[in-house]
Amino acid sequence: MTMRDTDRALVQAATAVAKLRCRSDNHTVAAAARTVDGRVFTGVNVYHFTGGPCAEVVAVGAAATQGAGELETIVAVGDRGRGVIPPCGRCRQVLLDYFPSIRVIVGPADALRAVPVAELLPTEYVWADHQIDAGVGIPAPREGTAG
Ligand SMILES: [Zn+2]
Repeated sequence: MTMRDTDRALVQAATAVAKLRCRSDNHTVAAAARTVDGRVFTGVNVYHFTGGPCAEVVAVGAAATQGAGELETIVAVGDRGRGVIPPCGRCRQVLLDYFPSIRVIVGPADALRAVPVAELLPTEYVWADHQIDAGVGIPAPREGTAG
């Protein structure tokens, strides 16, 4: 898929945050996400050995904090001039479950492209399907039991 002007602007936004905010081992990747109505939200990873979130997840949370709706496109950029980096497996799953039609910008600097997240996760596991199939969800409280 070809890059739109708004995609290039999103890469620039993530690159700017990476340069400005990723200056320690705690924060090494910046992400920028755009909503369908054109708002852009950014975030940096929160590295911690207990499993701190990736920049993409932080950007998703920042967007949710501001009441953003559907995210249309997302990109992550590494510190120290590493450029665009692809999302890890966990982020691919999160993005697919939250925004099934989101586009993810990947590829080398001279050949960036925006691809549907499903393309990055072939034969994907669909969490929502599992929820329906298994009949799980918020369990109904049982009478006479605590918690
Ligand atoms: Zn990740």
